[in-house]
Amino acid sequence: MGARATETTRELESTSIKYQIGGHTEKMWQRLKGILRCLVKQLEKGDINVVDLKKNIEYAASVLEAVYIDETRKLLDTEDELSDIQSDSVPLEVRDWLASTFTREMGIVKRRPEEKPKFRSIVHAVQAGIFVERMYRRTSSMVGLAYPAEVIVTFKIPVPNLISFAEALEVGYSKYKNPYHNLIHAADVTQTVHYIMIHTGIMHWLTELEILAMIFAAAVHDYEHTGTTNNFHIQTRSDVAILYNDRSVLENHHVSAAYRLMQEEEMNILANLTKDDWRELRSLVIEMVLSTDMSGHFQQIKTMRHTLQQTEGVDKAKAMSLILHAADISHPAKSWELHYRWTMALMEEFFRQGDKEAALGLQFSPLCDRKSTLVAQSQIGFIDFIVEPTFSLLTDSMEKIVMPLIEEASKSGSPAFGTPSQNSLGAVNNAEAQRRPSFKSASDGGTHTENSLATVDLTSFKDNLMKIIQANKERWKELAVEEELVKNVGEQETDQSRNSTEAQLQEETTRIQNESSQGGDGTACPPRSIVLQVVSFDTPLSDESNSEKCTNSDPNQKDLTDAQQETQNTDPLNGEPKHCKKSEDLVKATEQKEALIQN
Ligand code: 5GP
Ligand code: MN
Repeated sequence: MGARATETTRELESTSIKYQIGGHTEKMWQRLKGILRCLVKQLEKGDINVVDLKKNIEYAASVLEAVYIDETRKLLDTEDELSDIQSDSVPLEVRDWLASTFTREMGIVKRRPEEKPKFRSIVHAVQAGIFVERMYRRTSSMVGLAYPAEVIVTFKIPVPNLISFAEALEVGYSKYKNPYHNLIHAADVTQTVHYIMIHTGIMHWLTELEILAMIFAAAVHDYEHTGTTNNFHIQTRSDVAILYNDRSVLENHHVSAAYRLMQEEEMNILANLTKDDWRELRSLVIEMVLSTDMSGHFQQIKTMRHTLQQTEGVDKAKAMSLILHAADISHPAKSWELHYRWTMALMEEFFRQGDKEAALGLQFSPLCDRKSTLVAQSQIGFIDFIVEPTFSLLTDSMEKIVMPLIEEASKSGSPAFGTPSQNSLGAVNNAEAQRRPSFKSASDGGTHTENSLATVDLTSFKDNLMKIIQANKERWKELAVEEELVKNVGEQETDQSRNSTEAQLQEETTRIQNESSQGGDGTACPPRSIVLQVVSFDTPLSDESNSEKCTNSDPNQKDLTDAQQETQNTDPLNGEPKHCKKSEDLVKATEQKEALIQN
């Protein structure tokens, strides 16, 4: 016996370790297969003793472990995503911000000032629908309190509870008077999630419970946001940072506090769910909201890219998390005037954090110093390294998931493909209804063929997004030139002359804002020539006092805010931070949207 078994052992000894070091996964797999086959043969022949067998199995295990480590390392390695950041193409502060916001390492362990990280180490740190539409229809009569009896029966969410819950959400979103993370942002992200689900056709892949989870997660995802970052909470050792052990501090709070609201009976909008549905929804919501923690961004992108290369199907929770994450950073994929306003709101929020940091004697976080932050340049970095890759991955993922559904539906003449007399959730949700009687889709007798799989056009969805993102980036590039000039001039100026320049520029900003609000052609944009640091943003986007300044977006522009594509005769309200239409709160936005749907 022994001779062959010992030979195997020796061979294993010399190769397995080498492979562990070399890390050639493919070779390792082949090797492992060989070892196991050899062992099986020896066992079949009875030509082996127990000691050798044990030794050989142990070696096989070590090779398997090496393969596992190698694969995991590849999966965790975010090098590819950031290898493009050239030291001269991205300003240091933007690189700092990317590293501290979108990766875990820098986020949690902040370096001391004297250990200013070198570029290389930064790179290393960085490396390391229909349901909803129906819901609108069903809740539409909230205002007049005259909904048909069958609506009340089929709608699983008790309407008074929904109203109380939405009101409490509004209060929470307004608690810190944030310029950016306020109730309009919540409405915006919720609407964008809705838009993505309809226009990619992904809603035909999701169950009604999953669609509810998506909308719910979007609505609560920044609840009681403090207007400061996780890093700020960690640095200042805030109560929530202590409570959540510095891990996804805000995101943990958003979900937890929203669920705590529903512990109150009158706000419990999930009261009619079965235990199983309730648990499933909760698990999805937790996963989705926690995945909006930007420090997991690169890992999330990497994992999803890897999933797309596999033959197996895509994990639902992962796909849904990607949709929410994309919606959360979607304003650069919207018309310039919206994107610009959201940017200014976010910058003001960052600057207020900077003011707090200065008052506390802390170092400024990246992009938080209102005197020196280069907004336009940072936006180019944000779009290049975060937004574009996210939306490209989103559209690729939607393609992988939805194309087979479209093919299948077109062959079988499925209701989801738009056959009249069925609602467009037909195929998927009829099956779902059988599996999950407690949450079956209710037939409202409507035909929503405009949202059927047949109308899904992923190519133009993708092209539109990419076109808008590119156009916005070009605008920032123009502004970056100006910004650079102002910065250079500013460095030479005395404080006094800087103040008078600021006053002039402030005047210019006001003048242009007034002009654009008087334009009335619905196409007015924020000015091309505007000096970013001087834009005043004293009030949140949700503040009605901004109403004179607001502009309408181009109703013909096909972008994420184009709800004319979304629902018949629907105008884009869609979470835009504009106030011409009193879209200052979630409930009002919903009411208005409903009114528009009905018109
Ligand atoms: P949220 O905090 O809303 O859950 O996640 C969005 C995050 O993405 C923001 O906190 C911010 O870090 C980042 N973000 C979103 N929009 C912009 C933008 O226009 N510019 C920059 N620099 N970051 C953005
Ligand atoms: Mn958000």
